[in-house]
Amino acid sequence: MSDPSAPPPPCPFEKRFPSQLVRDDVFFMSLAYNQAVDAWREDEVPVGAVIEFGGEVIAAAHNTVERAKDPTAHAEILAITQAAAKLGDWRLDGATVYVTKEPCPMCSGAMLMSRVKRVCYAVPDPKMGCLGGATNLNDLPRVNHHVELTSGGVLEDECRELLRTFFKVKRLGEP
Ligand SMILES: [Zn+2]
Repeated sequence: MSDPSAPPPPCPFEKRFPSQLVRDDVFFMSLAYNQAVDAWREDEVPVGAVIEFGGEVIAAAHNTVERAKDPTAHAEILAITQAAAKLGDWRLDGATVYVTKEPCPMCSGAMLMSRVKRVCYAVPDPKMGCLGGATNLNDLPRVNHHVELTSGGVLEDECRELLRTFFKVKRLGEP
């Protein structure tokens, strides 16, 4: 284990500056990536999420598990809470979640419970991913809400490199 009192290793990755004119998946994932860079700068595992609704970003968050000492403080959970507060409704119909890594069991569950329209994730997670990587909560036979999925391919290499390098620098095992 690394010394918890040591300063965080500097993040060697720069933020992205996507054109505001093209609001496609790469645009929104770039903002999620920037959240992940912020997580690294706070010595948190670099995972970021943004939520798009009506072409606008209504929530942006990154993992704060260490700082908050809260195992539920994943980027997606924090972003969903923000988005629900912003819309004044727990139902996030019509919203798309962009997240740099495939959602874990908790976050995949939150995607279904909040009824988001679509989830776009960058890096599949064969260990803990519950939207296609390890298993798929969308396939529960009696669930009547399903999310549309874009799994992998959007800034996948960039988001994977950020995670891989973080774990390498911290000398931790792969997530
Ligand atoms: Zn999670």
